[in-house]
Amino acid sequence: MAMQHPRLLLLGTGGTIAGTAPESTQLNRYAAGVIAAEGLLDALPELAALAEIQVEQIANVDSADLGFSHWRSLVERIRQSLAADPGLAGVVITHGTNTLEETAWLLHLLIDDPRPVVLVGAMRPASALSADGPLNLYQAVQVAISAEARGRGVLVVMDGQIHSARAVSKRATQGVGAFHSSGRGPLGWVDDLGVHLPEVERSAPALFAGLSLPRVWPQVVILHGCVEPPQALIPALLSAGVQGLVFTGTGAGQLSVVERDALAQWDGQPPLMLRANRCGSGPVHRCEDHAKLGLLPAGDLSPQKARVLLLLALMAGDDRDALAARLKTLSG
Ligand code: ASP
Repeated sequence: MAMQHPRLLLLGTGGTIAGTAPESTQLNRYAAGVIAAEGLLDALPELAALAEIQVEQIANVDSADLGFSHWRSLVERIRQSLAADPGLAGVVITHGTNTLEETAWLLHLLIDDPRPVVLVGAMRPASALSADGPLNLYQAVQVAISAEARGRGVLVVMDGQIHSARAVSKRATQGVGAFHSSGRGPLGWVDDLGVHLPEVERSAPALFAGLSLPRVWPQVVILHGCVEPPQALIPALLSAGVQGLVFTGTGAGQLSVVERDALAQWDGQPPLMLRANRCGSGPVHRCEDHAKLGLLPAGDLSPQKARVLLLLALMAGDDRDALAARLKTLSG
């Protein structure tokens, strides 16, 4: 009797992995999100020997154009398919690289299932000489069907490396090795000999496992620290009803006096606020001056991941203490 292959769900969202240009030498001037996910599979017959793959298209866009409604569809589709189909081995998501780390982190916080959910993209369009997408996709499938990847939370596979959603970020605008896991390094590797992931205990349950996502999401804005930030910005945002602010502070998450004064003078309902940093690595710790204004340190979360956390915390109805408790869980 023929051996049955593991079954996977592939969700396409677009990006460079699905991008094309008129010439094979065009690496920068191309359209992202052109080829349907089905087409990516057709171009990779090698996958048929690994898995039986069901394909669905959630979107086909540049990842800068993904929105909360796409995120909601992704989360709902993944939760539904994992719950309805115990025989499903895992899920692979093709995604643009520019915001891939945000989607990965969102899913990591919301999807509570030991089966692998793996995001993958490409730095070169599908039409390019030495396009990286096909091998990245092949390796993402290898990881998604592997026993080693179970219970590891949401994973990102790029350039033969396996990253955790927590640590991964895109660190370069060019080159196939653009993804890094700052401070921690990748979790492991994948190659023709298999999936190399050190054994660990099962990861903790997803922080927002049961949270259902509304149609309208809260407004959370990221502010970037710099010399002489515009004075009018914070009062304008607060008056506009923004519910969350993430400060990309200078150094270890430092706000200027201008910014702190603007927060101190606000007499309305204070938003939930996190301090991240613009250095790109290293933690942001608690600081009394900032804590007095209601700012919580985001630890080693990047500003964009801190924003995802804040979005979900607001949806969950967290106050500052509840958010502080979640941050503590994440730092443990
Ligand atoms: N512009 C692309 C995106 O969709 C970049 C990429 O996928 O590498 O994010």
